[in-house]
Amino acid sequence: MQAGPPPMPDLADTARLARMVCGTAFAMVLMPGAPACGPVPPGLAPDEAEALAALAGREPVIVPDLSRDPRTAGLSAVCGPAALRFQAGLVLAGTDGRLLGTLCVLDPAARPDGLSDDAAAALAAIGRQAAREIGLVAALRAARADRDDLRSITEAAPALIAALDRDEVCRFANGNFARWFGRAPAETVGRSLREIVGEAAYAARRPFLARAFAGETVSFEAAHPRADGRHALVRYVPRRGPDGDIADLQLLGVDITAETDARAALADSALKFRAIAESMPQMVWSTLPDGYHDYYNPRWYEFTGMPEGSTDGEGWNAIFHPAEQPEAWRRWRHSLATGEPYEIEYRLRRHDGIYRWVLGRAMPIRDPATGAIERWFGTCTDIDDQVRARETLAQRREALETEIAERTAALAEANARLTAEIEERARIEEALRQSQKMEAVGQLTGGIAHDFNNLLTGIVGSLDLMQTRINEGRTQNLTRYAGLAMASAQRAAALTHRLLAFARRQPLAAQAVDANRLVSAMDELLRRTLGERVRLEVVVAGGLWLTLCDPNQLENAILNLAINARDAMPDGGQLTIETANAHLDDAYVASEIGVRAGQYVCVCVSDTGTGMPPDVIARAFDPFFTTKPMGEGTGLGLSMIYGFTKQSEGHVRIYSEVGQGTTVKLYLPRHLGRAADEPAPSAGLPVPRAEHGETVLVVEDDATVRTLIGETLTDLGYRVIEAPDGQTGLRILEAPGRIDLVVTDVGLPGLNGRRMVDEALAARPRLRVLFITGYAENAAFGNGHLAPGMRMITKPFAIDAFATKVRAMIEPGPR
Ligand code: ADP
Ligand code: MG
Repeated sequence: MQAGPPPMPDLADTARLARMVCGTAFAMVLMPGAPACGPVPPGLAPDEAEALAALAGREPVIVPDLSRDPRTAGLSAVCGPAALRFQAGLVLAGTDGRLLGTLCVLDPAARPDGLSDDAAAALAAIGRQAAREIGLVAALRAARADRDDLRSITEAAPALIAALDRDEVCRFANGNFARWFGRAPAETVGRSLREIVGEAAYAARRPFLARAFAGETVSFEAAHPRADGRHALVRYVPRRGPDGDIADLQLLGVDITAETDARAALADSALKFRAIAESMPQMVWSTLPDGYHDYYNPRWYEFTGMPEGSTDGEGWNAIFHPAEQPEAWRRWRHSLATGEPYEIEYRLRRHDGIYRWVLGRAMPIRDPATGAIERWFGTCTDIDDQVRARETLAQRREALETEIAERTAALAEANARLTAEIEERARIEEALRQSQKMEAVGQLTGGIAHDFNNLLTGIVGSLDLMQTRINEGRTQNLTRYAGLAMASAQRAAALTHRLLAFARRQPLAAQAVDANRLVSAMDELLRRTLGERVRLEVVVAGGLWLTLCDPNQLENAILNLAINARDAMPDGGQLTIETANAHLDDAYVASEIGVRAGQYVCVCVSDTGTGMPPDVIARAFDPFFTTKPMGEGTGLGLSMIYGFTKQSEGHVRIYSEVGQGTTVKLYLPRHLGRAADEPAPSAGLPVPRAEHGETVLVVEDDATVRTLIGETLTDLGYRVIEAPDGQTGLRILEAPGRIDLVVTDVGLPGLNGRRMVDEALAARPRLRVLFITGYAENAAFGNGHLAPGMRMITKPFAIDAFATKVRAMIEPGPR
């Protein structure tokens, strides 16, 4: 198809024809940029040829003699051997007047007559013919260049381009077109369309071809004949020939496979979206990136009752409750500006005019490649029921809180009332206790007065008798009366002891005690106390631990328990006394107040008597509690035992069953040491007497007692100094003079015995002291531990015991 530019027309023939017509020797055609052609005068230089051509005109210009024309006379072609003389020159001009070249006829002979008219006319005709020929060639060259440009454009265009003639034969095809159908362009041109696209594809195109040949420009999408998924958008443009009929068709095609696919995908996803959106129970809507609403699913229209399409753009705004509009707009604009998800609760007007609460939400859909927002998809969910439930709940909660607050207040009030009542009750109880105490004190005072009166009667009566007999001089058998008085006095002493134990102010002389030995030693005493109808059994444990307590009190306690047992068995029965090692564990201790877990020695006294009902057990330890008739019971026995065990850091417990009997268990702490020495030598030995005139200072505020002690000591042979109070005693002690022993009451008014001694020790560091204690002074000795050289004797005391103690202190060591 490639063709070079057409050669310039060979105008040598034209020149020869002109020479012939004009009868000249030479002729030449001169065109710009080309050498002169024709029967040119030999040796004519190009510049001289041009100088000659310059003389030509639109009509033939005749120069009869060139040698006579000043413009040409100097040319070598004129004055040289060629000796040219005659010239007729004609300009070759295009139809547009443009200069195309020059035609000249030349002759060596001058022609004064020039050319004949016929010759001139013929020359002009020849010139016009030549000019036409030159014009045609130029036009052809230009057309060829245009065609080449168009071809390269069609080749470069991303389109299928072809032309069909009326017979549907391909007259032109670009590379894309040929390649689309799997051919080379050369194989395409000259073939029919049917041949090129194949039978099936041709059938599909026929209606379009028919319409195009009927004069219509048609466009359609055509699948590739090979059905390889490619698609082209095809356009047939009919062209009319000069006769007005359709001469041919231009075929234009664009490969739109990618677009089709994208569109198909889009259509697919749009379809899916629509299917989902329309089947959703919620209202679904969608907007353009700028927020223009262009889609609502059917739920929206059902809910709002609005005609389809009427809420596009901002038409939806009217459906919002006016109260929420500003906030909804604010958030929506914010989301549109930032791309942040949109969420708000608002009221939407339903078709029936009722506003319902709705949860509005929207999310932006972004282009995966650029991230730009393509659309917004939103939903409206009717949450009216939830909102109402929420409100009801909040109201209920509020009501509940109010109720709770009210109840709390009521409770606080009740509590306050209760506290007041408790306080009132405590006050009443305190008053009751006080009155009970007064009653108890009255009972105690009465009881003691009664007992003491009896005892005093015994003592006074005996002393009376003795006095009478002495006065009468009947001094024989006086000791009997003295014995009676003594017995009464001793009972009185025992009574005060019991009272003190009850008050827990009894000075205890705690020491390591072997309970087995103690119980065994009581055997005789107990048998006599119990009488014949009660059998006594003593069961002592082997390997019994020692305990730490006052043995006299323990003896007293066992005796009291035995007496209670006897009283509970008026018709006789069995009394058992057992000893045992006992371990009170944490579980036991937890149920008893004031008891420490650990190892104890247990003394257990059981009877087969009447037993005690629970209410009696509960009160049995109370002082003065007795079920016995007036005069038989004081109610102090168990109380005293309780006081003793507590003071000994032990524990006492009653187990009893009515009609079965009673067991009382005493727990006394185990002592990890050696047993105390055997008791002091028993009474009956002669009372020891002073031998070396030892001096004893007696400090006692009670004159009677002081006199009694003084006389006793004097009788025993000691020198006695008496002092009525601590100050006097201290003065005597601080003065020089022999004092072997101080006997002092602890409970002295002012400077007490203990402090007096403490101060005297500065002057007499080795002072020996015998303290006489009543009850309350126990604390003054801190658990009764005394410094060496100091002893203690408890009131009331027997004179012989007192004398023995004094002697032992003045002269320590074996006598
Ligand atoms: P009293 O013996 O002077 O009544 P107690 O303090 O020794 O005072 O005893 C208080 C009360 O406990 C007794 O009156 C009696 O009711 C009851 N009681 C004590 N021991 C026994 C016992 N072994 N069997 C039955 N009841 C007893
Ligand atoms: Mg008793």
